[in-house]
Amino acid sequence: MRATDDRYRSEQAKFDLAMRMIKYEARTGTIRYWTGLNDDRIRKLYTTYFKYAAAPVRRKRGRSPTRVGPLVRTPVRALESGLFANLLLANGLFSIEQPPGPTLKGNTDLGLRFCECFESYEKIVPRGVLTFEWGWNLLLCIRRGDELGIARCETCSICYVFDLLSLPRSACPACLLFRQLDTGCVLSPAPG
Ligand SMILES: [Zn+2]
Repeated sequence: MRATDDRYRSEQAKFDLAMRMIKYEARTGTIRYWTGLNDDRIRKLYTTYFKYAAAPVRRKRGRSPTRVGPLVRTPVRALESGLFANLLLANGLFSIEQPPGPTLKGNTDLGLRFCECFESYEKIVPRGVLTFEWGWNLLLCIRRGDELGIARCETCSICYVFDLLSLPRSACPACLLFRQLDTGCVLSPAPG
């Protein structure tokens, strides 16, 4: 009975995770990676529970994004990516001491934590630029460690991500934004 119970719980966990990821418009490949469910099963879940729902969920076709540039293209993006990276680190989705961190494939517990990171990000950053799939791409890029680095600014202590291949290394995006704001204040006309 124990084995049957465990199997049931494991199947239920896969199902719950897939449902949650479909809601975030995750691509089939991403859901397959985390849950181990096959494409046909994922498509059926979507058709049964989401396609004809009152608030239909869109299905994205094709592969997940893999580029790094859009994650750090502007100071705001680098800051938002940095915030998401902090959430991922705090939730054990990658490790700095023992890179890249725990195995993710088929790990429904960590998949659930990844969803929670995304939910926290959406709460902290209203109208943020990262979608679920771009967040997933960010995690994979950090774990690969060959294109994206994480830094902490010595001036403002903010954590941000930067393009390892771009030279000279980009400055802290938060300090950059603060400087722009300062300049804006100086240039704006005096009130009255
Ligand atoms: Zn700074």
